[in-house]
Amino acid sequence: MIFPLVGNNKIAPSLENALREHRIPHAILIDGDVGTGRHTLANFLSLAAVCSGDLIPCDECKNCRMASSSNHPNIRYITPEKDKKSIAVAQIRELKNDAYIKPHQAKNKIFIIDPADSLNPQCQNALLKILEEPPENTIFILVAESKASLLDTVLSRCVVLSLNVPSFEEASHYLQSKTNFDKAEIENALNVSRNNIGKALMLLNGNATAKVSEASKKFLELALKGDQMGMLSCLYPFENSRIDAERLIKDLKLLVANEIKKNPSSVRAAALLKFYNKLPSFEESLVTNVTLSLLFADLTATAKEYIS
Ligand SMILES: [Zn+2]
Repeated sequence: MIFPLVGNNKIAPSLENALREHRIPHAILIDGDVGTGRHTLANFLSLAAVCSGDLIPCDECKNCRMASSSNHPNIRYITPEKDKKSIAVAQIRELKNDAYIKPHQAKNKIFIIDPADSLNPQCQNALLKILEEPPENTIFILVAESKASLLDTVLSRCVVLSLNVPSFEEASHYLQSKTNFDKAEIENALNVSRNNIGKALMLLNGNATAKVSEASKKFLELALKGDQMGMLSCLYPFENSRIDAERLIKDLKLLVANEIKKNPSSVRAAALLKFYNKLPSFEESLVTNVTLSLLFADLTATAKEYIS
């Protein structure tokens, strides 16, 4: 499995060497701005720590598979409890008790503490003792936006991996190879996010969601008017994205349901209900290999048949 971060060439080689030799530090602090890949790296390292393959993480063994589906009993996330902004000292005490119980599924037990910069000094001091003398086969990964709020004593126990944003070219190349967005859209988002890939992705996905919800509204309007060509051209921009098609049908279900609720006993509501009942079969088709242009043609024809 290839190291997942773009533009962090300073830390990548030493980390790759460590993994090749199956040497994972007992305490790691990953710090960087939101969107720089801190969680990607924390997950990658926890996968490596539980992996039972030779080249870690192998991404194939049972431990890797369980960890990839966020389902590994030896990987624990310590995050603030519901409606709380920071991790409580009781959670750190409980973590310490748990850390002394030997791992059973994999060779290591991993605790991801996130956000570590939300720990108050009392929590940090409680954590410090276990960072100083960690139980065997226990790995602590602290995730923070900034290491500035961590005590020097805690910092000195951790291998610090500071993440940076990549160059514009690296980020653009990465997003073009991993997503279906246009080059111009990607470059625009990267300009706004100052090369931050995570933030650019949020912008791109936000734009995509807005476009889909606009299109689904338009589609229903056109369907009610019986404009089949209009409906088809409204769906055309999404022919290359199953994710968008999925969102679009979900949006349509909500819109049609709302339309029915407005006047449930009308003739129009009865027609809309028939169309509504057909929509799940389109969602099922999406999981198969059906071509989206065919699916959209079918959706348009069904809308025309039932509600126009
Ligand atoms: Zn593995």
